[in-house]
Amino acid sequence: MFGFSFSQKVTDPVCKMKLDKKTEFSSEFGGTKYSFCSENCKDQFNAGAKNYIDKKENVPAKKSCCG
Ligand SMILES: [Zn+2]
Repeated sequence: MFGFSFSQKVTDPVCKMKLDKKTEFSSEFGGTKYSFCSENCKDQFNAGAKNYIDKKENVPAKKSCCG
């Protein structure tokens, strides 16, 4: 809806590398597709997906009140 978009980047949830959205290595978990830089990362994710996606990095930054 925003017209042109830049080439979409995704983050490898395992090693945090930025990737183009289309990669050879991807896996689906909980209805969301994740992309990986390598089969190694994909395997790690599959072995413990929760470890990687429980870290809610996409939550909007809140004002810290109690820092
Ligand atoms: Zn990786």
